[in-house]
Amino acid sequence: MLEMSSRSTSGRVSALQEITQSMKTKKDKLPSAQVSEYFGELTFNIAHMREKLPRDAYQNIVRALEKGEKISERTADLVAQAVKEWAMSKGATHFCHWFQPMTGLTAEKHDAFISIQNTNHSELTVIERFTGSQLIQGEPDASSFPSGGMRSTFEARGYTAWDPTSPIFILEGETTKTLCIPSVFFGYHGEALDLKTPLLRSTDVLSESCVEFLKLIGDVDAKSVTSTLGVEQEYFLIDRRFAALRPDLIMTGRTLIGAAPPRGQQLEDHYFGAIPTRVLTFMEELERELYRLGIPVKTRHNEVAPSQFELAPIFEHAVIAADHNTLLMEVIKKVANKQGLHCLLHEKPFKGINGSGKHCNWAMSNDKGENLLEPGKTPHQNIRFLAIVAVVLKAVYDHADVLRASIASPGNDHRLGANEAPPAIISVFVGSLLSRIFESIEKGKAADATDKQIIDLGVNQIPPISKDYTDRNRTSPFAFTGNKFEFRAVGSSHNVAIPVSTLNTAVAATLRKASKRLEELLKKHKRDEAVMALVKEYLVASKHVRFDGNGYSQEWRKEAEKRKLPIFDTTSEAVKVYQDKKAVEFFVEQKVLSAAEIESRFNVQVERYVKTLLIELNMLSELSKTHVIPAVESQLTKCYAVLDNCSDSLKKVYKKRVEALERVMKALVTGEEELLETISKIDSVHDEVKKMDMIQKTAIPLREELRAAADEAEVLVSDDLWTLPKYREMLFTHGIS
Ligand code: ADP
Ligand code: MG
Repeated sequence: MLEMSSRSTSGRVSALQEITQSMKTKKDKLPSAQVSEYFGELTFNIAHMREKLPRDAYQNIVRALEKGEKISERTADLVAQAVKEWAMSKGATHFCHWFQPMTGLTAEKHDAFISIQNTNHSELTVIERFTGSQLIQGEPDASSFPSGGMRSTFEARGYTAWDPTSPIFILEGETTKTLCIPSVFFGYHGEALDLKTPLLRSTDVLSESCVEFLKLIGDVDAKSVTSTLGVEQEYFLIDRRFAALRPDLIMTGRTLIGAAPPRGQQLEDHYFGAIPTRVLTFMEELERELYRLGIPVKTRHNEVAPSQFELAPIFEHAVIAADHNTLLMEVIKKVANKQGLHCLLHEKPFKGINGSGKHCNWAMSNDKGENLLEPGKTPHQNIRFLAIVAVVLKAVYDHADVLRASIASPGNDHRLGANEAPPAIISVFVGSLLSRIFESIEKGKAADATDKQIIDLGVNQIPPISKDYTDRNRTSPFAFTGNKFEFRAVGSSHNVAIPVSTLNTAVAATLRKASKRLEELLKKHKRDEAVMALVKEYLVASKHVRFDGNGYSQEWRKEAEKRKLPIFDTTSEAVKVYQDKKAVEFFVEQKVLSAAEIESRFNVQVERYVKTLLIELNMLSELSKTHVIPAVESQLTKCYAVLDNCSDSLKKVYKKRVEALERVMKALVTGEEELLETISKIDSVHDEVKKMDMIQKTAIPLREELRAAADEAEVLVSDDLWTLPKYREMLFTHGIS
């Protein structure tokens, strides 16, 4: 017993020793080239196509991108040929259709470029071949991807298809290079089996509905509108040697036990502090890899918690930004690994320490490149600005429940509602300047606004809304920050395609309604008056969703109840909105998701919730039995020896220590037993929704109790008997925080 514990203890202790000894950072010699020289070198982009393709084929691609024209067989073959030559010249041997199944992760199935030319006699001739049809469509074994029950009724096949809007790229392994073709994934009847298809559909409907609206408000030459997205990514870094000793981190991405260190983040000395050198080395390599993939990362800094960091790119077309964020999440892990680090993208890796989010900065711009959320210089531009903002507010108000569901996940359940992350109630922060303007509009000062009155109102002088105006209300889940909205409640590990396609669709649906209403108003009023009347109506109707105060406070919760805003604290409550036909019919009306697709997404989300939680619960039970309880046993053995041999006067006081340990031991043993019983009860139920509810109601409270006992044990047991790396060690490793 003693021997065993000393062996396992040495794992933790020797990791610690190794880490202190190897503190000097190895610095890979980074090439000194300017970023512009290698930016995008691993991507086959539109410039390559212009250079490598015959003119007509290139034009075909351009029209496909701009107008959705079909790509001809000949063009596909020519692109395939050019891509293959380019990829092989870079050393790629395989290709894959790179797609995002409903797991939220990415999937790849690699195929070699080789093809058998000649099977005469027994001699095979191998040639490198890659055809247009291989480029355009693939057929991965779909049965291993979740379909939420959709495919069982149809055909079991799934297909991937090249999405030409996103650049083809090469993914490098240690020794391998694979050509990745960004693709969508769908079933036999065209039903979407991935996250990207709805995002693509949503950007299309947003463009159509916004162009229609812009025309009515006077932008007669508007042709298309793009949704733009900049995704700020938060993450933790810890030394890989510690991660290897934490089965919970490896299996679940978060620590299931771990006592809070005496010093957490209360000193607030990490945020925006100097970036530690070891991390800087990591960031430099990460940025170089991202640049080579054409991902325009721009800012890097420390975050609030120790060992927490953030990375933000320059915004791009929403679909590309979403692909890039997904790719970034893969690259960040690979680079961390190379540098002896472990990157945690989980929303809440450490209890009591700030979690990680992913702010989705979102705006729309027209085909002239003007940001529709940017207050302009002319009264007209400002009317447009107000109209668009009013529509977004109304969209968020009307669809707050579905937006909440779009960010629901087991990981995010630890953040939302807690005093650290945007709360589980969807509200919008607009800042003091816009609030004032909105108030005057609501009061009717611009009810029948002529140009003159709009000017009087100050609308034509809306100054560029700087950060000072939008201040830093970090408690808002959805904030207007100058010239964009920031959806802040998104979790750090999420695939942004889900919240962004929900937002796009909500805004598109609201734009359609707004256009209808505006047509009516235009029968009675002059254009600017009609638009301002619409703005007023929408601001009044969506007033309840606006909230500039402290989103963490209990008063806000009460106020939100009064305002009848949807409040869903947990995933198990939030996702049920997908079963409410009325709540989700806007997806169907806008043709972004069919009823069957919504149902399948709901099923997948529930299934994933159940699986994730069961893995956590089983892991926790195992950790208790194999790490925590044995450590307490060893400690008790030692304590009993002391009791047997010590003086009566010491015995009296020493008993308290023994009693504390015994109490914790009882809690651990019974807690673990109860947890296992509950797990087997959950396992015996067949309905996934019921399982989810049981987990929320019965298993999670047990999980918390067992954890509390384990955390208490950690501070009662001798340091050398504790086998799992502690919070203070993981979070305050020199060179990382
Ligand atoms: P912060 O939020 O820290 O103040 P910035 O305002 O510079 O930082 O930008 C945060 C993110 O918002 C960046 O990724 C940036 O590219 C993105 N962003 C800026 N403008 C837009 C826009 N019009 N549409 C979408 N994202 C944008
Ligand atoms: Mg931000």
